[in-house]
Amino acid sequence: MQFSLDDQVALVTGAGRGIGRATALALAEAGARVIAVARTAADLDALAAEARGRVEGWVADVTDAGFYARIEALPRLDILVNNAGGNRPMPMVDVDDETLDWLITLNVRSVYKTAQAAARRMTEQRSGVIINMSSQMGHVGSPRRTVYCMTKHAVEGLTKAMAVELAPFGIRVVAVAPTFVKTPMTEQMFADPEFSRFVFDMIPLKTLATPEDVAAGVVYLASPAARLVTGESLRIDGGWTAR
Ligand code: NAD
Repeated sequence: MQFSLDDQVALVTGAGRGIGRATALALAEAGARVIAVARTAADLDALAAEARGRVEGWVADVTDAGFYARIEALPRLDILVNNAGGNRPMPMVDVDDETLDWLITLNVRSVYKTAQAAARRMTEQRSGVIINMSSQMGHVGSPRRTVYCMTKHAVEGLTKAMAVELAPFGIRVVAVAPTFVKTPMTEQMFADPEFSRFVFDMIPLKTLATPEDVAAGVVYLASPAARLVTGESLRIDGGWTAR
């Protein structure tokens, strides 16, 4: 029962595919009423058809000001999963301004603005849980990932500072930090045998995460079972960062 999310309102960004999609399905299965946010309506229709539970789709871009206003206008919001993000791995010396600005805008600015909109709603109702999607790269460095690591370390810092500031309002703020997950974002990376070898050498448990592994962590953190967990980053990384 402690893991039940019955009648909680949960909003998940980047829910069209990958981790966000699995998380939306898991939250709905745990009893939440899920608002799934994605840019592609067809992805949301497919998600709603598969869901065992209540899923409403919102077509929106998480970098749009209108999206933040829409969150603030919600009559109730219990759980935010601030998941949309991206990566474009490349050597630091090759990073162009467009890539730098795109990643900072998507992985930091939109995460901040989405969390801020949710915090405005939740401080009024004096309860809520905000779960920011970080990465193991929010804890360590890795080649060809200077911008990504920088943005995910920012997410970790934001999580801690929000947790401290919002605790008096009964709001918990946590991060989830997965290792490499097989999703559309990483599929091309694993086509390279040298990269695959590097990744498996780094993971003591010798297995990649699935979107469902990450979703399970989100359900726990969102649930009453985690009522004393805030400012924490749950690493779902097979031991990568324990080395
Ligand atoms: P993905 O590329 O499969 O999914 C990213 C999602 O975000 C997609 O649904 C995409 O449409 C959405 N998105 C991107 N820009 C958006 C925008 N402007 N507006 C609305 N939605 C937008 O990747 P994923 O692996 O599922 O990534 C989800 C999160 O998990 C990201 O924050 C990512 O950094 C993080 N993460 C991924 C991995 C991994 O290996 N896949 C590992 C650690 C952390």
